[in-house]
Amino acid sequence: MPKHPIVIRQITARIQEYPLIPDRAIAWTHGIHATTCSLIITVRDQSELEGYGETVVLEQWTGEAPASAQTFVEQRLTPALVGQELDHPADAARLMEQVAWGWEASKGAVDCAVWDLWGKQQNRSVAELICDRKPKDRLLIRASIGGFGVEQTVRLAQTYRDLGVRVLKFKVGLPDIDDARRLAESRAAVGDELIFTIDANGAYPTADAAIQAYEAMAQSRINLFEQPTPRRRISMLGEVRHRIDIPVMADDCVFKPSELEEVLALEACDVVSLYPGKNGGFTHCLSMARRAADCGIQCAIGTALESDLGQGAMAALAASLKVFSTEDIGQDLQASVMYEHSSVREPMRFENGYVQVPTGPGFGVKPK
Ligand SMILES: [Mg+2]
Repeated sequence: MPKHPIVIRQITARIQEYPLIPDRAIAWTHGIHATTCSLIITVRDQSELEGYGETVVLEQWTGEAPASAQTFVEQRLTPALVGQELDHPADAARLMEQVAWGWEASKGAVDCAVWDLWGKQQNRSVAELICDRKPKDRLLIRASIGGFGVEQTVRLAQTYRDLGVRVLKFKVGLPDIDDARRLAESRAAVGDELIFTIDANGAYPTADAAIQAYEAMAQSRINLFEQPTPRRRISMLGEVRHRIDIPVMADDCVFKPSELEEVLALEACDVVSLYPGKNGGFTHCLSMARRAADCGIQCAIGTALESDLGQGAMAALAASLKVFSTEDIGQDLQASVMYEHSSVREPMRFENGYVQVPTGPGFGVKPK
């Protein structure tokens, strides 16, 4: 533990846009994601040490908009935190929860920055500080393919295979797209070795519709069905889980610890997707991951397409906790294959399907 409490002297918030490599934009249930809009937080302590955090601000996801997120940090979270003596980053999370309900991306970016600062104060990586196993030095990634037509889908699958990606996540359930055919043709084009997963972002309105869609795609060998049914219909997710023979992942329906509790109580999934920008910070992700582990549910890192900066915190979680052992489906740490340029000074290196976990103090990533 650090000898001195964390005392935050200053918090700065800025909005940064990161364009995706043009042909790798993501078409999903809520539109086209071609440029990522991130909230970048820097926290400074008395000794001018800095901690950094990044979350993606996407209205359709957490309900926050870029300008309002920045203002919320400046006018609400900053006065609640600056000058307080914090013995642990969780103290900051608690104070932020008292400010407002929701605002997961805004709180998440600040919370990650406090954890980064806390690690740096001790000159240790956050992964080392929270681990329940020797932190992994590399993690298998998943790359996402938007809900495009057959030709574009096959071309993207080939592109990712050629880059060395081993796990693909196909966005499915978009109107007028023949998912069964695009997956079958992708499987024929890339061969049997790649792992296929599908993510509907809640596109199917009923369990029957989700199961019917899955059965049409099953011949393409799918290892995971992510969020088949709508966000607030957790019992429906459980129905799908109990009626199909592949693992089901809860993503869009688990933002808050209380939602995780409901998923666990209903045994509604096999795997839960967690990451700080969705769950309101690293503190909550950590406690939710430990809770899932206690209940025998696996976790995997999800994403709203954070850059390398935000991925530092995500990688620390996946590298250091046994509950993130979903080697067969990988983690959504895909910045290195989605963006032309890295957002950090030492990019997270991608090779043979795996991304290297940063090892420096804090989360080991520093913005350019
Ligand atoms: Mg998802």
